[in-house]
Amino acid sequence: MKISVDRLFHPDIEAIEIEQTLRFREELGQRYPNGVRLNGRITHISHGVHVHGSIEGSERETCVRCLEPFWRDTNILVEETYSEDVKPQDELFSDVAPLTDRSIDLSALVAQLLEVEEPLAPVCRESCAGLCPRCGVNRNEIACGCAQDALDERLAGLAVLRDELSRDEELHRR
Ligand SMILES: [Zn+2]
Ligand SMILES: [Zn+2]
Repeated sequence: MKISVDRLFHPDIEAIEIEQTLRFREELGQRYPNGVRLNGRITHISHGVHVHGSIEGSERETCVRCLEPFWRDTNILVEETYSEDVKPQDELFSDVAPLTDRSIDLSALVAQLLEVEEPLAPVCRESCAGLCPRCGVNRNEIACGCAQDALDERLAGLAVLRDELSRDEELHRR
């Protein structure tokens, strides 16, 4: 969604209020099937504009531990500055985005912020017990009894080391 900010360059306009639900296609659309809400205001600064606001939405996620789908609440602060002094080709080297044709692409801004905020390893809740590495049950729902074995597996490496050390000791004693 592109929005013209040209009227902010006239002295009698103070701000443009934004209250928009943005919907996306493809991957972002699947992650946010209900879209996201952008609330904020755009104000004029010297040679540009500033966007201050927030993005709220519910993201469809899959827990990396139990592999169950869940909804993750997204809440992102938006602080973005656009300047006519920044050339589009210099965008990568600047904290300030270029302002071209006195319009800004709110969809592109929101998509970029959602991308940055995406967790690498989403979990349905911090206490999620995940799947049993032995029998594969969801340990949030079923206590399968393999839990001790799973712990042993992790300690197995240490046990091997311990055995090797004691064998060395025996060799030295002989
Ligand atoms: Zn989970
Ligand atoms: Zn199990």
